[in-house]
Amino acid sequence: MNVLQGKNSVESASPAMQQLPDGRGRFGDFGGRFVPETLTRALDELVAEYESAKKDPSFQAELDELLRSFVGRASPLYYAKRLTEAAGGAQIWFKREDLNHTGAHKINNTLGQGLLTLRMGKTRVIAETGAGQHGVASATACAHFGLPCVVYMGAEDVRRQKPNVFSMKLMGAEVRPVESGSRTLRDAVNEAMRDWMASVETTHYIIGSVIGPHPFPMMVRDFQSVIGREAREQSYHAFGRLPDKVVACVGGGSNAAGMFYPFVEDDGVELIGVEAGGLSADPGQHASPLSHGQPGVLHGSFSYVMQDGDGQTSPVHSVSAGLDYPGVGPEHSFWKDAGRVQYTECRDGAALETFDKVAKCEGILPALESSHAVAAALEIAAEMPKDKIVLVCLSGRGDKDAAEIARLRGEDY
Ligand SMILES: *Cc1c(COP(=O)(O)O)cnc(C)c1O
Repeated sequence: MNVLQGKNSVESASPAMQQLPDGRGRFGDFGGRFVPETLTRALDELVAEYESAKKDPSFQAELDELLRSFVGRASPLYYAKRLTEAAGGAQIWFKREDLNHTGAHKINNTLGQGLLTLRMGKTRVIAETGAGQHGVASATACAHFGLPCVVYMGAEDVRRQKPNVFSMKLMGAEVRPVESGSRTLRDAVNEAMRDWMASVETTHYIIGSVIGPHPFPMMVRDFQSVIGREAREQSYHAFGRLPDKVVACVGGGSNAAGMFYPFVEDDGVELIGVEAGGLSADPGQHASPLSHGQPGVLHGSFSYVMQDGDGQTSPVHSVSAGLDYPGVGPEHSFWKDAGRVQYTECRDGAALETFDKVAKCEGILPALESSHAVAAALEIAAEMPKDKIVLVCLSGRGDKDAAEIARLRGEDY
């Protein structure tokens, strides 16, 4: 490497995208830390511990070994041949995060943060969950490490996601239903933050996506980036080059951030994030802050948020509980404004249709969240020549959604 071709003053005025966030946790204007003072010290401690862990080869070795023997990584790339034929254009490939232990990408993050909890000498973990996937991944990591775990979950979600609630309890976690507000994910995050303010000396809060105050968006992205790093390397083996387009669904944005981040400086690779378009573009009918929101503060970070004229967070809707969130990670807001990632929407109906198509064409039940990404990928691939490659992050498996799909169709489950 020629040092003269390294950073010059022009570059340092506008750092390479992979160098973000800056020391204050900013991705351009986005991110940062909007929290009560009680949490500042814990967040500083977390930054310091995370920075030291990153430089510690034994931390990385322990995490890598868990990702291999406990999660089952590396997750394979899979050629969706019959879907490709049905779309009639570019080749469609899946990055199979659905094959991970616990059935989604969430476990990549909870194991990393679980290890950090031990490193900080903390003795208790709390987490929030919507659909229950992050709750299950947190309960799983805590059972593995022998840490007590409390999961905050909106009462409405507790009702909708019974099997996940039971799994968490089986693994020894305590699930606390949240009765405030809309009794869904945003209320669960509020309640977890409240717990953390009172318990921060002993407790680590494992946030489940690339949201929240610095360093969470950076740290969760880093733990999830194993997805994109593997995919990038596997692409060279599978097609001898990088894919033309990479597609992922965006709720809080962690599977997408993990998939995109290792590709952000590959100019030839187009990145496409897919938000939950819900029923329509009308307020309250979707969960697409990047497509329809405004910059604002939610859960300790500055990013695009669905809000009304007074800056109050608006209600959101998606058929998929994992995408049903009014905010989004600050790095996505930055990538959007910088034009590095294109963000689009997929409506409930198209996601449900795609779920069915992937099931029948490929013998894979995709999570309803992931079905949003596949739906967009099918449209995109149809417009491209056959020698091009579209790689989709299949963020999770869809067994968890079968009951809801049966209910929507009026069928027995
Ligand atoms: C939680 C979840 C999502 C949405 O969360 P991100 O942070 O946006 O990745 C997407 N897919 C699956 C399978 C999930 O469990």
